[in-house]
Amino acid sequence: MSAVEKKVLILGGGLAGLACALRLQAAGARPLIFERSDGVGGRVRTDQLDGFLLDRGFQVFLDAYPEAGDLLDKESLDLRAFRPGALIYRTSGRVRMMDVFREPRHLLESALAPVGSLADKLRVARLRWRLMRLTTEEIAGHEDMTTESYLRYAGFSPAMIDGFFRSFYGGIFLERELQTSSRMFEFTFKMFSQGSATLPSRGMGEIPRQLASRLPPGTIRLGAQVTRIQPGSITLESGEQFRGDAVVVATDATTAAGLVSAGGIDGPVWRSVTCLYFAAARSPLCESIIALNGTGCGLVNNVCVPSDLAPAYAPPGRALVSVSVLGTVDSADLESRVLAELEAWFGGAVREWRHLRTYRIERALPRQEPGNGFTGPGFRQAAGVYVCGDHLWSASIEGAIISGLRTADAILKPS
Ligand SMILES: Cc1cc2nc3c(=O)[nH]c(=O)nc-3n(C[C@H](O)[C@H](O)[C@H](O)COP(=O)(O)OP(=O)(O)OC[C@H]3O[C@@H](n4cnc5c(N)ncnc54)[C@H](O)[C@@H]3O)c2cc1C
Repeated sequence: MSAVEKKVLILGGGLAGLACALRLQAAGARPLIFERSDGVGGRVRTDQLDGFLLDRGFQVFLDAYPEAGDLLDKESLDLRAFRPGALIYRTSGRVRMMDVFREPRHLLESALAPVGSLADKLRVARLRWRLMRLTTEEIAGHEDMTTESYLRYAGFSPAMIDGFFRSFYGGIFLERELQTSSRMFEFTFKMFSQGSATLPSRGMGEIPRQLASRLPPGTIRLGAQVTRIQPGSITLESGEQFRGDAVVVATDATTAAGLVSAGGIDGPVWRSVTCLYFAAARSPLCESIIALNGTGCGLVNNVCVPSDLAPAYAPPGRALVSVSVLGTVDSADLESRVLAELEAWFGGAVREWRHLRTYRIERALPRQEPGNGFTGPGFRQAAGVYVCGDHLWSASIEGAIISGLRTADAILKPS
């Protein structure tokens, strides 16, 4: 059968499922997406509340992502960039650390910032120079270890690792122990050096919405939970059955492991995060930058004000504050504890902030340990079905999209 005639049943309308469907569609095949929730996007969605746009957990799109960048129309996403660097809140006060290659006017301030030594700052520059010249394939071929070991091996001082890398990469890997694969560290460091961390002007949910809008009407079925799969057929919770020429499981890894029980898919250990949103009369930062906890203690890892980058995140005259706490903290007084902590950062104005919503995201990122990711085909063929998703390449938007695209390529390959 030619690719053009193939009907492909895809479970999951996250980025992997959408990318897979788009490539299949472009080649003339007929993808059908079954999504159990009420919208596309999976872990990348945005809610609206009282005129605020709340991303379901703080996350950013790195505009240097090569394959996601090719697939998306970045211009119509109207990406708003964070400044390259961070403000670090320490017990002794606030320190600014910028990427001085892009903001050279902060050279002296960043070089003298009491976070690590001058030698550490030079190591950052050397790392940047080296990684920008490597391809992702070269990075994928590097020996893999924990990011913490990698940084020590690269000569960074404990003061630099504890004072900067733990909170900056803690916010990306959703863990401060830096046990994530050093390949993932090298890849993200390269992406941060080559481009910017951005937010679409109308929220992260615009990314999947844009992809979904390119598929023909009727391709995506929402509220359709798949409970059983077999090679060539799926069954929904409602009992309805569908037949196709191929089945793609583009769910998160835990669900995939349950559905493809004979397929050797590991249900991963997850990195979790809690994201709290507050409405403020004024931005506590007044600039498009990420603020980090450099005290070495407390609940908060990072803070930003999305409405400083993209005004649509808040109604006129208000600011939206996003606070990330690593892990899922199930405490009834979490909001007040976070506010008390942030009063030490931003002063008494914090007492006027209004809590909007807290997202506790148990399954945010599949744990990406050394040796896990950036290898293999980017998908699995198991028990007669294809499995794709961020867990099969890298725990990121780029990883999910790559995995979806490669799965489509495998299906389209003439047999
Ligand atoms: C808080 C947070 C912060 C993050 N930060 C970043 C960041 O800054 N940068 C970055 O690049 N990445 C980040 N990520 C990671 C990125 O969002 C994910 O890697 C990516 O979205 C995963 O996409 P996916 O399609 O593989 O899986 P998912 O998004 O999990 O999609 C799977 C879909 O399958 C559906 N589904 C599940 N079971 C069934 C079923 N039985 N039947 C039908 N449908 C089903 C789900 O509802 C879901 O829509 C972050 C993620 C989170 C949650």
